[in-house]
Amino acid sequence: MSKNITKRAEDYSKWYNELVVKADLAENSGVRGCMVIKPYGYAIWEKMQAELDRKFKETGHQNAYFPLFIPKSYFSKEASHVDGFAKECAVVTHYRLRTAEDGKTIEVDPDAKLEEELIVRPTSETIIWDTYRKWIESYRDLPILINQWANVVRWEMRTRLFLRTSEFLWQEGHTAHATKDEAVFEAEQMLDVYAEFAENFMAIPVVRGFKTENERFAGAIETYCIEALMQDGKALQAGTSHFLGQNFAKAFDVKFTNQEGKQEYVWATSWGVSTRLMGALVMTHSDDNGLVLPPNLAPIQVVIIPIHKNDEQLEAIRAEVKVLTDRFKKLNISFKFDDRTTFKPGWKFNEYELKGVPLRIAIGPKDLENGTFEVARRDTLTKEIISKDDAVSYVQEMLEEIQRNLYQKALDYREEHITEVNSFEDFKDVLENKGGFVSAHWDGTVETEEKIKEITKATIRCIPMDRKEELGVCVLTGKPSLGRVYFAKAY
Ligand code: AMP
Repeated sequence: MSKNITKRAEDYSKWYNELVVKADLAENSGVRGCMVIKPYGYAIWEKMQAELDRKFKETGHQNAYFPLFIPKSYFSKEASHVDGFAKECAVVTHYRLRTAEDGKTIEVDPDAKLEEELIVRPTSETIIWDTYRKWIESYRDLPILINQWANVVRWEMRTRLFLRTSEFLWQEGHTAHATKDEAVFEAEQMLDVYAEFAENFMAIPVVRGFKTENERFAGAIETYCIEALMQDGKALQAGTSHFLGQNFAKAFDVKFTNQEGKQEYVWATSWGVSTRLMGALVMTHSDDNGLVLPPNLAPIQVVIIPIHKNDEQLEAIRAEVKVLTDRFKKLNISFKFDDRTTFKPGWKFNEYELKGVPLRIAIGPKDLENGTFEVARRDTLTKEIISKDDAVSYVQEMLEEIQRNLYQKALDYREEHITEVNSFEDFKDVLENKGGFVSAHWDGTVETEEKIKEITKATIRCIPMDRKEELGVCVLTGKPSLGRVYFAKAY
């Protein structure tokens, strides 16, 4: 298989699909809309999980696990929740197969119909709140701060590897609180956790904001989100955190006795990020040569490739590498010494470039003579000859520098692609010709939001949390507006 990929400028979407497959992140499966995550892709996801899990525990949360199936009756208890998810639910109706009359094919056994159909969870609020009813009696039982790592199913019609799949992996936090203030604090805190993770770990700058009523999670009072901008000028919702009010407590009758001895409904939040983050990672940093990984997420941070003509040279290189990698181990720098003789150095160079390994060290006979290494950076595609004595501190600093550089590059792009407009003509022009976030006044109604979407395909990505108070008039209707919101075409 050719390792060359389509150029971004030619066809961004094709570039993305080819890159995901050729860098060995994931591939389509025999099940429509469901992907196979390959070991290299999964290793990156595991790094994300490990860091997020650490942050969740640091903020007082514990992991637990709830069933994959949700009885249909649970699902319909919260009206807007069922409305929001009904169109994309997979439903289990039977529990047995049998051999058909032809003696060959397999069919569903009509005698094995479930009394109550089961929904494959698209999200777990309902089953979790049904459980919390049994756990909560008094204020002493609160708060409950739980996270679950799981898979969910949403029967999506238009799917893309990682960005939108019918089954995806995610974490979902579900918390229960005695007061509204505490629940709002929790929802905001978890949004901060996501934003910090995206920026410091994934090197992806994000806008923190609120969703409009139209884009809110089904059953939420407020949905907070982080929105990222991809290299093609389209936005991507990278994470959400919901303040659910008392909606699920009322639907599942979850009350507690407060300190005054009175019964009250419990306050709730939920929050999640998914394998969509893998798509965000690819679309933020990668280039025409393949994946570019921020060192914090790279399964291999440094690859070492020997260049040799005979076994004797290879042995000498091995000895140098041993000294170097012993020190890498102590510093928790992850590395791979690729001394396979079945592949040529040039092939290896391409392979690790495609896979986005941040640093490559090549060591040849000349280097052995001169006491040097050749180090190449994946982000800038530049090379340098360094003295082997400085190698460890050079690598350490360079990994930090690459992490910083990737963030700065993405931030510069994002900042250049937030455009304020004051007329609908400009609005359409910027969307068509420049892309990115269009910062515009909006009259606050669902109708206008829908109309703009109909005309331009752009949606309100968020009401930025840090927006200035600025009275103005709506770009479409001319009606009064309290401040600007960010529109964009989105994945
Ligand atoms: P939600 O429960 O709708 O707020 O979504 C929680 C998280 O999952 C958000 O970060 C979404 O961006 C992400 N997400 C939603 N639908 C999908 C999907 N079909 N594939 C991958 N990620 C998704």
